[in-house]
Amino acid sequence: MSQIVRTRIAPSPTGDPHVGTAYIALFNMCFAKQHNGKFILRIEDTDQARSTAESEQDILSSLRWLGLDWDEGPDVGGEYGPYRQSERKNDYRAYAEQLIEQGDAFYCFRTPEELDVIREERKSAGLNPGIKGNLELPAEDVEARLARGDAYVIRMKVPDEGACVIDDMLRGKIEIDWSQVDCQILLKSDGMPTYHLANVVDDHLMAITHVIRGEEWINSAPKHKLLYQYFAWDMPTLCHMPLLRNPDKSKLSKRKNPTSINYYERAGFLPETVVNYLGRMGWSMPDEREKFSLNDMIESFDLTRVSLGGPIFDVEKLQWLNGLWIRENLTPEDFVARAKKWAFNENHLLPLVEHVQGRVETLADILPLTGFMFSGMLDLKAEDFTHKKLEESQVKRVLQFALWRLEAQRHWNKDQIFADIKALAKGMEIKIGDCMQPIFIAIAGTPNSWSVVDSMTHLGPDMSRARLRHAVNCLGGFSKKESKRVEKEYQSLIEAIDANLAGEN
Ligand code: GLU
Repeated sequence: MSQIVRTRIAPSPTGDPHVGTAYIALFNMCFAKQHNGKFILRIEDTDQARSTAESEQDILSSLRWLGLDWDEGPDVGGEYGPYRQSERKNDYRAYAEQLIEQGDAFYCFRTPEELDVIREERKSAGLNPGIKGNLELPAEDVEARLARGDAYVIRMKVPDEGACVIDDMLRGKIEIDWSQVDCQILLKSDGMPTYHLANVVDDHLMAITHVIRGEEWINSAPKHKLLYQYFAWDMPTLCHMPLLRNPDKSKLSKRKNPTSINYYERAGFLPETVVNYLGRMGWSMPDEREKFSLNDMIESFDLTRVSLGGPIFDVEKLQWLNGLWIRENLTPEDFVARAKKWAFNENHLLPLVEHVQGRVETLADILPLTGFMFSGMLDLKAEDFTHKKLEESQVKRVLQFALWRLEAQRHWNKDQIFADIKALAKGMEIKIGDCMQPIFIAIAGTPNSWSVVDSMTHLGPDMSRARLRHAVNCLGGFSKKESKRVEKEYQSLIEAIDANLAGEN
Protein backbone atom coordinates (compact mmCIF):
# COMPACT_ATOMS: atom_id res chain seq x y z
CA MET A 1 0.00 0.00 0.00
CA SER A 2 1.60 3.28 -1.05
CA GLN A 3 -0.87 5.52 0.76
CA ILE A 4 -0.53 5.97 4.51
CA VAL A 5 -3.22 3.90 6.17
CA ARG A 6 -5.58 6.05 8.24
CA THR A 7 -8.40 4.46 10.21
CA ARG A 8 -10.85 6.01 12.60
CA ILE A 9 -13.59 5.46 15.09
CA ALA A 10 -16.37 7.99 15.08
CA PRO A 11 -18.46 7.54 18.22
CA SER A 12 -21.51 9.63 18.94
CA PRO A 13 -21.38 10.85 22.54
CA THR A 14 -24.96 9.98 23.41
CA GLY A 15 -24.66 7.45 26.19
CA ASP A 16 -22.40 5.15 28.13
CA PRO A 17 -19.07 4.13 26.56
CA HIS A 18 -20.12 0.90 24.90
CA VAL A 19 -17.99 -2.26 24.67
CA GLY A 20 -18.92 -2.30 20.97
CA THR A 21 -17.11 1.02 20.54
CA ALA A 22 -14.01 -0.42 22.21
CA TYR A 23 -14.26 -3.51 19.99
CA ILE A 24 -14.32 -1.44 16.80
CA ALA A 25 -11.58 0.85 18.16
CA LEU A 26 -9.36 -2.16 18.85
CA PHE A 27 -9.63 -3.52 15.30
CA ASN A 28 -9.12 -0.08 13.75
CA MET A 29 -6.09 0.48 15.92
CA CYS A 30 -4.53 -2.92 15.16
CA PHE A 31 -5.06 -2.45 11.43
CA ALA A 32 -3.50 1.03 11.47
CA LYS A 33 -0.54 -0.06 13.61
CA GLN A 34 0.10 -3.13 11.54
CA HIS A 35 0.49 -0.86 8.48
CA ASN A 36 2.45 1.84 10.33
CA GLY A 37 -0.56 4.07 9.80
CA LYS A 38 -2.58 6.39 11.99
CA PHE A 39 -5.63 5.75 14.12
CA ILE A 40 -7.98 8.70 14.57
CA LEU A 41 -10.77 9.41 17.00
CA ARG A 42 -13.51 11.71 15.75
CA ILE A 43 -16.52 12.72 17.81
CA GLU A 44 -19.77 12.70 15.83
CA ASP A 45 -21.93 15.04 17.85
CA THR A 46 -24.22 16.50 15.20
CA ASP A 47 -27.23 15.25 17.14
CA GLN A 48 -27.07 18.12 19.56
CA ALA A 49 -30.12 17.14 21.55
CA ARG A 50 -28.64 13.78 22.51
CA SER A 51 -24.91 14.49 22.64
CA THR A 52 -23.36 15.40 25.98
CA ALA A 53 -19.90 16.54 27.02
CA GLU A 54 -20.07 14.03 29.86
CA SER A 55 -20.58 11.12 27.51
CA GLU A 56 -17.70 12.31 25.30
CA GLN A 57 -15.45 12.49 28.35
CA ASP A 58 -16.52 9.03 29.40
CA ILE A 59 -15.79 7.57 25.96
CA LEU A 60 -12.32 9.12 25.87
CA SER A 61 -11.40 8.06 29.37
CA SER A 62 -12.67 4.51 29.04
CA LEU A 63 -10.79 3.96 25.77
CA ARG A 64 -7.68 5.37 27.43
CA TRP A 65 -8.21 3.03 30.36
CA LEU A 66 -8.14 0.16 27.87
CA GLY A 67 -4.94 1.51 26.33
CA LEU A 68 -6.56 2.03 22.91
CA ASP A 69 -4.75 5.30 22.28
CA TRP A 70 -5.32 7.37 19.16
CA ASP A 71 -2.85 9.42 17.15
CA GLU A 72 -5.24 12.27 16.39
CA GLY A 73 -8.38 13.31 18.20
CA PRO A 74 -10.24 16.13 19.95
CA ASP A 75 -7.98 16.01 22.99
CA VAL A 76 -4.62 15.41 21.29
CA GLY A 77 -5.18 17.47 18.14
CA GLY A 78 -3.63 16.67 14.76
CA GLU A 79 -3.29 18.10 11.28
CA TYR A 80 -6.83 17.31 10.19
CA GLY A 81 -8.76 18.90 13.06
CA PRO A 82 -11.01 19.91 14.54
CA TYR A 83 -11.97 16.37 15.48
CA ARG A 84 -15.39 17.20 16.88
CA GLN A 85 -18.13 17.63 14.29
CA SER A 86 -19.89 20.37 16.24
CA GLU A 87 -16.75 22.45 15.67
CA ARG A 88 -16.90 21.80 11.93
CA LYS A 89 -20.61 22.40 11.58
CA ASN A 90 -20.32 25.53 9.43
CA ASP A 91 -18.44 23.65 6.75
CA TYR A 92 -21.04 21.05 5.83
CA ARG A 93 -23.68 23.33 4.27
CA ALA A 94 -21.41 24.23 1.34
CA TYR A 95 -21.09 20.55 0.46
CA ALA A 96 -24.85 20.04 0.51
CA GLU A 97 -25.29 23.14 -1.64
CA GLN A 98 -22.65 21.91 -4.07
CA LEU A 99 -24.76 18.81 -4.61
CA ILE A 100 -27.85 20.96 -5.23
CA GLU A 101 -25.96 22.91 -7.88
CA GLN A 102 -24.78 19.70 -9.50
CA GLY A 103 -28.36 18.40 -9.54
CA ASP A 104 -27.54 15.56 -7.13
CA ALA A 105 -29.61 16.88 -4.23
CA PHE A 106 -32.72 19.01 -3.80
CA TYR A 107 -34.54 21.25 -1.34
CA CYS A 108 -37.44 19.45 0.31
CA PHE A 109 -40.22 21.48 1.92
CA ARG A 110 -42.56 18.61 2.81
CA THR A 111 -44.16 18.74 6.23
CA PRO A 112 -44.09 15.68 8.52
CA GLU A 113 -47.78 15.09 7.67
CA GLU A 114 -47.09 15.13 3.94
CA LEU A 115 -44.22 12.72 4.45
CA ASP A 116 -46.52 10.38 6.37
CA VAL A 117 -48.89 10.35 3.40
CA ILE A 118 -46.00 9.55 1.05
CA ARG A 119 -44.91 6.68 3.30
CA GLU A 120 -48.44 5.30 3.47
CA GLU A 121 -48.93 5.53 -0.28
CA ARG A 122 -45.69 3.71 -0.93
CA LYS A 123 -46.55 1.08 1.62
CA SER A 124 -49.94 0.35 0.07
CA ALA A 125 -48.28 0.18 -3.36
CA GLY A 126 -46.05 -2.57 -1.92
CA LEU A 127 -42.95 -0.36 -2.06
CA ASN A 128 -40.33 0.34 0.59
CA PRO A 129 -42.16 2.86 2.79
CA GLY A 130 -39.21 5.23 2.83
CA ILE A 131 -39.04 8.75 1.50
CA LYS A 132 -38.57 8.44 -2.23
CA GLY A 133 -40.16 9.27 -5.49
CA ASN A 134 -40.94 12.59 -7.02
CA LEU A 135 -40.44 15.05 -4.17
CA GLU A 136 -38.80 17.87 -6.06
CA LEU A 137 -40.62 21.13 -6.79
CA PRO A 138 -40.18 23.15 -9.96
CA ALA A 139 -37.31 25.63 -9.76
CA GLU A 140 -39.61 28.73 -9.52
CA ASP A 141 -41.50 27.24 -6.57
CA VAL A 142 -38.24 26.47 -4.82
CA GLU A 143 -37.06 30.06 -5.35
CA ALA A 144 -40.33 31.47 -4.04
CA ARG A 145 -40.38 29.27 -0.98
CA LEU A 146 -36.76 29.96 -0.14
CA ALA A 147 -37.42 33.69 -0.53
CA ARG A 148 -40.42 33.34 1.80
CA GLY A 149 -38.17 31.71 4.39
CA ASP A 150 -40.03 28.36 4.46
CA ALA A 151 -38.38 25.58 6.46
CA TYR A 152 -36.60 22.99 4.34
CA VAL A 153 -34.15 20.10 4.42
CA ILE A 154 -31.69 19.11 1.71
CA ARG A 155 -32.06 15.55 0.45
CA MET A 156 -29.80 13.55 -1.82
CA LYS A 157 -31.14 12.06 -5.01
CA VAL A 158 -31.11 8.28 -5.09
CA PRO A 159 -31.85 6.08 -8.12
CA ASP A 160 -35.13 4.15 -8.10
CA GLU A 161 -33.93 1.17 -10.05
CA GLY A 162 -31.01 -1.18 -10.20
CA ALA A 163 -28.72 -2.20 -7.39
CA CYS A 164 -25.75 -0.73 -5.62
CA VAL A 165 -22.77 -3.01 -5.17
CA ILE A 166 -20.62 -2.46 -2.11
CA ASP A 167 -17.19 -4.01 -1.77
CA ASP A 168 -16.52 -5.15 1.75
CA MET A 169 -13.16 -6.49 2.92
CA LEU A 170 -14.80 -9.36 4.80
CA ARG A 171 -17.98 -9.95 2.88
CA GLY A 172 -16.90 -9.41 -0.70
CA LYS A 173 -19.61 -7.87 -2.87
CA ILE A 174 -22.87 -6.88 -1.21
CA GLU A 175 -25.79 -5.94 -3.43
CA ILE A 176 -28.49 -3.61 -2.17
CA ASP A 177 -31.40 -2.56 -4.39
CA TRP A 178 -31.67 1.19 -4.84
CA SER A 179 -35.42 0.84 -4.30
CA GLN A 180 -34.58 0.13 -0.63
CA VAL A 181 -32.57 3.32 -0.22
CA ASP A 182 -34.28 6.57 0.81
CA CYS A 183 -33.66 10.05 -0.49
CA GLN A 184 -31.62 10.63 2.63
CA ILE A 185 -31.68 14.03 4.36
CA LEU A 186 -28.19 15.54 4.22
CA LEU A 187 -28.85 18.88 5.87
CA LYS A 188 -31.56 19.20 8.51
CA SER A 189 -33.96 22.12 8.88
CA ASP A 190 -31.81 23.50 11.72
CA GLY A 191 -28.88 23.66 9.31
CA MET A 192 -27.04 20.74 10.93
CA PRO A 193 -25.76 17.92 8.74
CA THR A 194 -27.01 14.38 9.24
CA TYR A 195 -24.63 11.56 10.11
CA HIS A 196 -24.36 10.55 6.44
CA LEU A 197 -23.19 13.88 5.08
CA ALA A 198 -20.88 14.74 7.96
CA ASN A 199 -19.39 11.24 8.07
CA VAL A 200 -18.56 11.13 4.35
CA VAL A 201 -17.24 14.71 4.22
CA ASP A 202 -15.06 14.15 7.28
CA ASP A 203 -13.75 10.76 6.22
CA HIS A 204 -12.70 12.44 2.98
CA LEU A 205 -11.21 15.58 4.57
CA MET A 206 -9.41 13.48 7.19
CA ALA A 207 -7.94 11.27 4.44
CA ILE A 208 -9.37 8.09 5.95
CA THR A 209 -8.32 5.10 3.88
CA HIS A 210 -10.23 2.31 5.64
CA VAL A 211 -13.63 2.51 7.32
CA ILE A 212 -13.84 -0.38 9.76
CA ARG A 213 -17.15 -0.26 11.59
CA GLY A 214 -20.03 -2.39 12.86
CA GLU A 215 -22.28 -4.34 10.51
CA GLU A 216 -25.25 -2.18 11.50
CA TRP A 217 -23.89 0.43 9.06
CA ILE A 218 -24.01 -1.79 5.95
CA ASN A 219 -27.35 -0.33 4.91
CA SER A 220 -25.86 3.16 4.97
CA ALA A 221 -23.06 2.17 2.63
CA PRO A 222 -25.02 2.72 -0.65
CA LYS A 223 -25.80 6.31 0.38
CA HIS A 224 -22.17 6.87 1.22
CA LYS A 225 -20.95 5.31 -2.00
CA LEU A 226 -23.28 7.56 -3.98
CA LEU A 227 -22.07 10.64 -2.08
CA TYR A 228 -18.46 9.77 -2.89
CA GLN A 229 -19.46 9.47 -6.54
CA TYR A 230 -21.35 12.78 -6.53
CA PHE A 231 -18.34 14.53 -5.00
CA ALA A 232 -15.94 12.62 -7.26
CA TRP A 233 -13.86 11.57 -4.26
CA ASP A 234 -12.08 8.25 -3.76
CA MET A 235 -14.02 6.07 -1.40
CA PRO A 236 -12.23 4.46 1.54
CA THR A 237 -12.18 0.67 1.66
CA LEU A 238 -15.10 -0.61 3.72
CA CYS A 239 -15.02 -3.34 6.31
CA HIS A 240 -18.11 -4.18 8.36
CA MET A 241 -17.29 -6.10 11.52
CA PRO A 242 -19.74 -8.63 12.98
CA LEU A 243 -22.05 -7.47 15.77
CA LEU A 244 -21.29 -8.61 19.30
CA ARG A 245 -24.00 -10.84 20.72
CA ASN A 246 -25.43 -11.89 24.06
CA PRO A 247 -25.02 -15.59 24.95
CA ASP A 248 -28.57 -16.15 23.61
CA LYS A 249 -27.33 -14.81 20.22
CA SER A 250 -29.41 -11.63 20.36
CA LYS A 251 -27.63 -8.35 19.70
CA LEU A 252 -25.54 -7.33 22.72
CA SER A 253 -27.83 -5.14 24.79
CA LYS A 254 -27.69 -3.62 28.22
CA ARG A 255 -30.97 -5.31 29.07
CA LYS A 256 -29.16 -8.63 29.16
CA ASN A 257 -25.50 -7.83 29.80
CA PRO A 258 -23.59 -4.88 31.13
CA THR A 259 -22.46 -3.10 27.96
CA SER A 260 -20.70 -0.09 29.40
CA ILE A 261 -16.92 -0.19 29.66
CA ASN A 262 -17.31 1.64 32.97
CA TYR A 263 -18.99 -1.42 34.40
CA TYR A 264 -16.01 -3.64 33.66
CA GLU A 265 -13.66 -1.17 35.29
CA ARG A 266 -15.91 -0.88 38.32
CA ALA A 267 -16.32 -4.65 38.57
CA GLY A 268 -12.55 -5.12 38.85
CA PHE A 269 -11.58 -6.38 35.42
CA LEU A 270 -8.10 -5.62 34.16
CA PRO A 271 -8.03 -3.49 31.02
CA GLU A 272 -5.62 -5.99 29.44
CA THR A 273 -8.21 -8.74 29.82
CA VAL A 274 -11.04 -6.71 28.32
CA VAL A 275 -8.87 -5.90 25.30
CA ASN A 276 -7.73 -9.53 25.06
CA TYR A 277 -11.34 -10.74 25.18
CA LEU A 278 -12.52 -8.21 22.59
CA GLY A 279 -9.64 -9.37 20.40
CA ARG A 280 -11.15 -12.85 20.49
CA MET A 281 -14.47 -11.65 19.14
CA GLY A 282 -14.43 -13.08 15.65
CA TRP A 283 -10.64 -13.19 15.57
CA SER A 284 -7.94 -15.47 16.93
CA MET A 285 -4.17 -15.61 17.13
CA PRO A 286 -2.59 -17.82 14.47
CA ASP A 287 -1.78 -20.38 17.22
CA GLU A 288 -5.32 -20.04 18.70
CA ARG A 289 -4.02 -19.18 22.17
CA GLU A 290 -6.68 -17.56 24.35
CA LYS A 291 -4.50 -15.19 26.30
CA PHE A 292 -2.60 -12.50 24.40
CA SER A 293 -1.64 -8.87 24.84
CA LEU A 294 -2.47 -5.90 22.65
CA ASN A 295 1.09 -5.95 21.28
CA ASP A 296 0.85 -9.66 20.48
CA MET A 297 -2.38 -8.93 18.63
CA ILE A 298 -0.87 -6.06 16.64
CA GLU A 299 2.11 -8.22 15.66
CA SER A 300 -0.03 -11.05 14.35
CA PHE A 301 -2.93 -9.00 13.09
CA ASP A 302 -4.74 -9.85 9.89
CA LEU A 303 -8.11 -8.22 9.40
CA THR A 304 -9.16 -10.61 6.69
CA ARG A 305 -9.11 -13.42 9.26
CA VAL A 306 -12.14 -11.98 11.08
CA SER A 307 -14.92 -14.54 10.94
CA LEU A 308 -18.47 -13.36 10.54
CA GLY A 309 -20.42 -15.79 12.74
CA GLY A 310 -21.79 -13.38 15.41
CA PRO A 311 -19.22 -13.43 18.24
CA ILE A 312 -20.67 -14.02 21.69
CA PHE A 313 -19.70 -11.65 24.46
CA ASP A 314 -19.98 -13.83 27.53
CA VAL A 315 -19.22 -12.15 30.85
CA GLU A 316 -18.47 -15.49 32.52
CA LYS A 317 -15.81 -16.28 29.95
CA LEU A 318 -14.35 -12.82 30.40
CA GLN A 319 -14.26 -13.38 34.14
CA TRP A 320 -12.40 -16.66 33.68
CA LEU A 321 -9.85 -14.96 31.42
CA ASN A 322 -9.45 -12.15 33.93
CA GLY A 323 -8.60 -14.69 36.63
CA LEU A 324 -5.97 -16.15 34.34
CA TRP A 325 -4.40 -12.74 33.76
CA ILE A 326 -4.41 -11.93 37.46
CA ARG A 327 -2.84 -15.25 38.41
CA GLU A 328 -0.30 -15.51 35.64
CA ASN A 329 0.68 -11.96 34.78
CA LEU A 330 0.77 -9.91 37.95
CA THR A 331 3.70 -10.01 40.37
CA PRO A 332 2.69 -9.58 44.05
CA GLU A 333 3.80 -5.95 43.74
CA ASP A 334 1.68 -5.42 40.61
CA PHE A 335 -1.23 -7.05 42.35
CA VAL A 336 -1.02 -4.63 45.29
CA ALA A 337 -0.57 -1.67 42.97
CA ARG A 338 -3.63 -2.65 40.94
CA ALA A 339 -5.73 -3.22 44.05
CA LYS A 340 -4.77 0.18 45.37
CA LYS A 341 -5.54 1.88 42.13
CA TRP A 342 -8.83 0.12 41.70
CA ALA A 343 -10.37 0.51 45.15
CA PHE A 344 -8.30 2.01 47.85
CA ASN A 345 -7.78 5.43 46.42
CA GLU A 346 -9.18 8.84 47.24
CA ASN A 347 -11.58 8.99 44.32
CA HIS A 348 -13.36 5.92 45.54
CA LEU A 349 -13.06 6.37 49.28
CA LEU A 350 -13.66 10.09 49.78
CA PRO A 351 -17.29 10.08 48.61
CA LEU A 352 -18.02 7.30 51.12
CA VAL A 353 -16.64 9.09 54.15
CA GLU A 354 -19.81 11.04 54.88
CA HIS A 355 -21.75 7.79 55.13
CA VAL A 356 -19.16 5.81 57.03
CA GLN A 357 -17.36 8.10 59.45
CA GLY A 358 -20.34 8.63 61.73
CA ARG A 359 -21.01 4.90 61.93
CA VAL A 360 -17.64 3.44 62.90
CA GLU A 361 -15.91 3.08 66.24
CA THR A 362 -12.64 1.72 64.94
CA LEU A 363 -11.01 1.74 61.55
CA ALA A 364 -11.63 -1.99 61.56
CA ASP A 365 -15.33 -1.30 61.00
CA ILE A 366 -14.65 0.33 57.67
CA LEU A 367 -14.32 -2.76 55.54
CA PRO A 368 -17.49 -4.55 56.69
CA LEU A 369 -19.46 -1.33 56.11
CA THR A 370 -18.07 -0.55 52.67
CA GLY A 371 -17.28 -3.99 51.29
CA PHE A 372 -20.33 -4.03 49.04
CA MET A 373 -19.12 -0.89 47.30
CA PHE A 374 -16.05 -2.83 46.16
CA SER A 375 -17.74 -6.01 45.01
CA GLY A 376 -18.97 -7.35 41.74
CA MET A 377 -22.19 -9.36 42.00
CA LEU A 378 -23.26 -10.07 45.58
CA ASP A 379 -23.71 -13.58 46.83
CA LEU A 380 -27.50 -13.57 47.34
CA LYS A 381 -30.14 -16.24 47.75
CA ALA A 382 -33.90 -16.04 47.27
CA GLU A 383 -34.42 -16.21 51.10
CA ASP A 384 -32.44 -13.01 51.55
CA PHE A 385 -35.37 -11.19 49.95
CA THR A 386 -38.03 -12.54 52.33
CA HIS A 387 -40.23 -9.56 53.14
CA LYS A 388 -42.52 -9.02 56.12
CA LYS A 389 -45.24 -7.41 54.04
CA LEU A 390 -44.69 -8.22 50.38
CA GLU A 391 -45.16 -11.51 48.58
CA GLU A 392 -42.20 -12.79 46.62
CA SER A 393 -43.91 -12.00 43.31
CA GLN A 394 -44.32 -8.39 44.42
CA VAL A 395 -40.71 -8.18 45.58
CA LYS A 396 -39.62 -9.44 42.20
CA ARG A 397 -41.75 -6.80 40.47
CA VAL A 398 -40.33 -4.03 42.65
CA LEU A 399 -36.83 -5.03 41.57
CA GLN A 400 -37.69 -5.51 37.91
CA PHE A 401 -39.66 -2.27 37.67
CA ALA A 402 -36.90 -0.33 39.44
CA LEU A 403 -34.43 -1.82 36.98
CA TRP A 404 -36.50 -0.81 33.95
CA ARG A 405 -37.18 2.63 35.30
CA LEU A 406 -33.49 3.19 36.06
CA GLU A 407 -32.44 1.81 32.67
CA ALA A 408 -34.34 4.69 31.12
CA GLN A 409 -32.81 7.26 33.47
CA ARG A 410 -30.18 9.33 31.72
CA HIS A 411 -29.44 11.62 34.66
CA TRP A 412 -27.73 9.53 37.27
CA ASN A 413 -28.00 11.50 40.46
CA LYS A 414 -29.42 11.02 43.90
CA ASP A 415 -32.56 13.11 43.41
CA GLN A 416 -33.52 11.45 40.15
CA ILE A 417 -32.98 7.95 41.46
CA PHE A 418 -35.03 8.71 44.55
CA ALA A 419 -37.80 10.34 42.50
CA ASP A 420 -37.96 7.28 40.24
CA ILE A 421 -38.27 4.81 43.12
CA LYS A 422 -40.74 6.98 44.98
CA ALA A 423 -42.95 7.24 41.91
CA LEU A 424 -42.83 3.47 41.46
CA ALA A 425 -43.77 2.87 45.11
CA LYS A 426 -46.69 5.25 44.80
CA GLY A 427 -47.83 3.71 41.52
CA MET A 428 -47.62 0.19 43.01
CA GLU A 429 -49.35 1.38 46.18
CA ILE A 430 -46.51 0.14 48.36
CA LYS A 431 -45.02 2.17 51.21
CA ILE A 432 -41.70 3.67 50.18
CA GLY A 433 -39.87 1.87 53.03
CA ASP A 434 -41.31 -1.48 51.95
CA CYS A 435 -40.34 -0.80 48.38
CA MET A 436 -36.80 0.19 49.32
CA GLN A 437 -36.06 -2.94 51.32
CA PRO A 438 -35.49 -5.38 48.42
CA ILE A 439 -33.52 -2.68 46.64
CA PHE A 440 -31.25 -2.38 49.69
CA ILE A 441 -30.64 -6.10 49.59
CA ALA A 442 -29.98 -6.12 45.86
CA ILE A 443 -27.49 -3.27 46.08
CA ALA A 444 -25.89 -3.62 49.52
CA GLY A 445 -26.74 -7.19 50.50
CA THR A 446 -28.44 -5.99 53.72
CA PRO A 447 -31.32 -3.71 54.71
CA ASN A 448 -29.10 -2.06 57.33
CA SER A 449 -26.72 -0.17 55.12
CA TRP A 450 -26.64 3.58 54.67
CA SER A 451 -28.99 5.20 52.13
CA VAL A 452 -29.31 2.89 49.16
CA VAL A 453 -29.88 5.86 46.89
CA ASP A 454 -26.47 7.21 47.89
CA SER A 455 -24.94 3.79 47.32
CA MET A 456 -26.42 3.63 43.85
CA THR A 457 -25.25 7.12 43.07
CA HIS A 458 -21.66 6.17 43.91
CA LEU A 459 -21.80 2.71 42.37
CA GLY A 460 -22.92 4.27 39.10
CA PRO A 461 -25.67 3.23 36.71
CA ASP A 462 -24.04 0.11 35.29
CA MET A 463 -23.16 -1.64 38.52
CA SER A 464 -26.48 -0.64 40.11
CA ARG A 465 -28.49 -1.99 37.21
CA ALA A 466 -26.39 -5.15 37.06
CA ARG A 467 -27.10 -5.82 40.75
CA LEU A 468 -30.83 -5.25 40.33
CA ARG A 469 -30.80 -7.65 37.37
CA HIS A 470 -28.82 -10.16 39.41
CA ALA A 471 -31.38 -9.85 42.23
CA VAL A 472 -34.28 -10.59 39.88
CA ASN A 473 -32.36 -13.65 38.67
CA CYS A 474 -31.69 -14.77 42.26
CA LEU A 475 -35.46 -14.80 42.67
CA GLY A 476 -35.80 -17.05 39.64
CA GLY A 477 -36.43 -14.34 37.02
CA PHE A 478 -39.61 -14.41 34.93
CA SER A 479 -40.67 -17.12 32.51
CA LYS A 480 -41.26 -16.01 28.90
CA LYS A 481 -45.01 -16.00 29.46
CA GLU A 482 -44.76 -14.09 32.72
CA SER A 483 -42.36 -11.56 31.19
CA LYS A 484 -44.97 -10.43 28.69
CA ARG A 485 -47.53 -9.87 31.44
CA VAL A 486 -45.03 -8.12 33.69
CA GLU A 487 -43.95 -5.83 30.86
CA LYS A 488 -47.56 -4.88 30.23
CA GLU A 489 -48.10 -4.17 33.92
CA TYR A 490 -45.01 -2.02 33.88
CA GLN A 491 -46.17 -0.11 30.82
CA SER A 492 -49.52 0.77 32.37
CA LEU A 493 -47.81 1.66 35.63
CA ILE A 494 -45.44 4.02 33.85
CA GLU A 495 -48.25 5.61 31.89
CA ALA A 496 -50.13 6.22 35.13
CA ILE A 497 -47.01 7.61 36.80
CA ASP A 498 -46.25 9.91 33.88
CA ALA A 499 -49.85 11.13 33.72
CA ASN A 500 -49.71 11.78 37.43
CA LEU A 501 -46.44 13.69 37.15
CA ALA A 502 -47.83 15.74 34.26
CA GLY A 503 -50.87 16.53 36.44
CA GLU A 504 -48.63 17.72 39.27
CA ASN A 505 -46.69 20.12 37.04
N1 GLU B 1 -21.25 7.99 14.54
C1 GLU B 1 -21.38 6.64 14.11
C2 GLU B 1 -21.47 5.79 15.37
O1 GLU B 1 -22.02 6.24 16.31
C3 GLU B 1 -20.20 6.25 13.26
C4 GLU B 1 -20.45 5.08 12.35
C5 GLU B 1 -19.29 4.93 11.38
O2 GLU B 1 -18.26 4.44 11.82
O3 GLU B 1 -19.45 5.31 10.23
O4 GLU B 1 -21.05 4.68 15.49
